[in-house]
Amino acid sequence: MNTISCLLRTLDLIVPERCVGCGTLLCDARIGPAPVCADCVGRLKPLVGSRCVRCGVPLISEEERCLACREREHAYGTHRSIYGYDAAMAALIGAYKSRGIKTLGVFFAEILRREWERSGSSSVVVPVPGNPAGVRRRGWDHCSVIAEVMARRYRVPVRDCLKRSPGRRQKELGYAERQRNLSGKIAIREGRRVRVDDIVGAPVTLIDDVYTTGATVEECAHVLRGRGAGTIDVLTIAMDL
Ligand SMILES: [Zn+2]
Ligand SMILES: [Zn+2]
Repeated sequence: MNTISCLLRTLDLIVPERCVGCGTLLCDARIGPAPVCADCVGRLKPLVGSRCVRCGVPLISEEERCLACREREHAYGTHRSIYGYDAAMAALIGAYKSRGIKTLGVFFAEILRREWERSGSSSVVVPVPGNPAGVRRRGWDHCSVIAEVMARRYRVPVRDCLKRSPGRRQKELGYAERQRNLSGKIAIREGRRVRVDDIVGAPVTLIDDVYTTGATVEECAHVLRGRGAGTIDVLTIAMDL
């Protein structure tokens, strides 16, 4: 057991912390620094089976691409999601984004880091910028926090170089409405602390928490392409189909 694990174990004995997913006391069920228990992690369902080679949706036919990807080109190369967005995943993402339990960022960063390494560890990671209303309400950008942990804890090359202007909430909108709503709202964030030139000609992995229609990552990929990024692949924690 390392020093941090020991410290967390001791803290659990003094001020017992509960799992954000199921409420159980974490003392012996803790599997890492994030407040989530082994049972809740075990309930998450990795996406398996054949998937569209472009957008990553599960396929029921023998085709390589889903119907939508046969009709439409993407600004990104491929999208891959790691888990399904079921009740177990919704509880964790809801705890992170709606209840503001920022420490879950470590848990999500670890999931994305593992997949990023599996794909070769050679790309620059760019987080999708959150809707400004959500960022203001929470006080932090959910995806930037995950990317920050990836950079700080795992030394993943991260360039948090996208910004987003206010728009309507996306939740109830379909793909075309989301596209219209996002058009022109995503832009490159320049600044001394953001080395945007590092993405020019480089392979980029765009990360986000949940993939729903793909409109947000499409717009982000479009902007990154305009700035000269090389290949752009998208990696998300969960897919809400
Ligand atoms: Zn739990
Ligand atoms: Zn597809």
